[in-house]
Amino acid sequence: MYQVDISEARICKRDHRKLVEYDYETDEDFSADSDDDNTFQPPPLSDSSDITDLSNYEKKLTRKRKSNWKVNITKSKRSQCVPYTNKKKVCPAKASKAIDCSDCKYKCTSNFSENDRIDICKAYWGFGDYTRQKDYTLKFEQVCAKFFQATLCISNGPINSVVKNISSVGCFLGEDKRGKKCPGNKTSDTDKILVKEHIEKFPVMEAHYVRKSSRKLYLESNLSISKMYSLYIDDVCPKNKIPVSEKTYRRIFCNEYNYSFFKPKKDLCATCSKYEQASDNEKKNLEADYTFHLIRKQQCNESKEADKLRCANESSGCLSMLTIFFI
Ligand SMILES: [Zn+2]
Ligand SMILES: [Zn+2]
Repeated sequence: MYQVDISEARICKRDHRKLVEYDYETDEDFSADSDDDNTFQPPPLSDSSDITDLSNYEKKLTRKRKSNWKVNITKSKRSQCVPYTNKKKVCPAKASKAIDCSDCKYKCTSNFSENDRIDICKAYWGFGDYTRQKDYTLKFEQVCAKFFQATLCISNGPINSVVKNISSVGCFLGEDKRGKKCPGNKTSDTDKILVKEHIEKFPVMEAHYVRKSSRKLYLESNLSISKMYSLYIDDVCPKNKIPVSEKTYRRIFCNEYNYSFFKPKKDLCATCSKYEQASDNEKKNLEADYTFHLIRKQQCNESKEADKLRCANESSGCLSMLTIFFI
């Protein structure tokens, strides 16, 4: 077991003042990717478009606001030395604790005033960055470990890791290993590739109305993620491979592809929607029927309007039966 060598704990008053000033000038924002906020532009919505990307847009926007994440709110509050809530409980603000070093050989309390200690503590937590905090601790003049811990409001863990990873010229060489361990249930790369290969087998088409403004691709309207997943199961099982869960399949589909399922315009009748979706060649064959269909539609609308008008003009306020046309 490694023991803390108290002689390694050093405080340099002059350096710490510089660092305090520097820190407040930079006014660092601890939401790591705050620059990413608002970079996602809403897709241009066209009236002629039968597909809106709004739900996806909202989803992406929520995911991007990292400054609202609980973990980042906690980090930010802790670095500002105000009370914060971690995963388990409400924690008091970081502040240097009272300590009596009158008997200590380094005479820590007589070398550092209470105001110095408050500034040092604020500066340390204000960095909000693992390596900068470690470098800062290396600037300290010789003090005892108790005083060091009480001033910075830390346990002996951070001191241990500094002492373990100090270079011959007094720099911190370690790296932040917290939260870097690969989770045991992580989907393996091979499984992920299989899922992606499967998704890419399906034919896709560009959006008809918003081709220029949208990069979204559309899968056939009769497909769904569940249907695709059951096809994936049929595909994987004969190969004696363990399939990923539907949730994982869905996550890969949603996160790695800008795909949607084509939905034909709702207010179109069968004739119109057949014509809309037909290829240029097919359209030539449908042209005559479609033109006749449009003429009948117009006649029907005119007749309906005339009926409405007649009804409004009649003082008795009759109930008009609108003619139903079979067009
Ligand atoms: Zn001391
Ligand atoms: Zn129609």
